Amino acid sequence: MTSLDHHILRTDVSGLPLEWVTYQDAVRLYYLGHVAYTCGRSLYRVRGGYNAATGQRSAIDLSSIIATEGATQASVKVSPGYTPPLNNETLFRRDDHICMYCGNRFRTSMLSRDHVRPISRGGQDIWNNVVAACKRCNNHKGDRRPEQAGLELIAVPFTPTHAEYIYLQGRRILADQMAFLRAQFPRRSPLHQRLTLAEELARERPDHS
Ligand SMILES: [Zn+2]
Repeated sequence: MTSLDHHILRTDVSGLPLEWVTYQDAVRLYYLGHVAYTCGRSLYRVRGGYNAATGQRSAIDLSSIIATEGATQASVKVSPGYTPPLNNETLFRRDDHICMYCGNRFRTSMLSRDHVRPISRGGQDIWNNVVAACKRCNNHKGDRRPEQAGLELIAVPFTPTHAEYIYLQGRRILADQMAFLRAQFPRRSPLHQRLTLAEELARERPDHS
């Protein structure tokens, strides 16, 4: 069962992921003639108007992944020096909403961005120096490095690549979209393990996608 709130993955013509779009946006791209090709499975069939001459009703099949022309090319985002913008929402998703000190999972409102090496001690506000931390752990750590506060990181913070970043921004990602993005993750991506686990869980509970 597919509901209309599944987002469509938009890529550039070379297949590099660009963004998630709603089905309305995808329809617009189809009508503007920007869709170069599609992959992934057919998600929705959208009915258009009737052709006055033929009486036929137009329809477009929306795929889960669409490659578009005329868009900003994503190639700049796969260059080695590229770093996706840092924001709490994606950071918390990177860390799977788990406090990187106590290992418990929290909702977004209970998490904060912790600077492993505090800003006041020369730490930077960059992906490699920030982790999700619950407010309790963050308060306890205060203006200290983890070891000074008797804390230990449960995972090493990492800078997501562009493909990982797009994945982290996704909602209710479909299996084919996941496979498409995952193929572009670095081999050593820490996300592989999490995704493998999620796949195993999904296999055990096929009703929950
Ligand atoms: Zn904590």
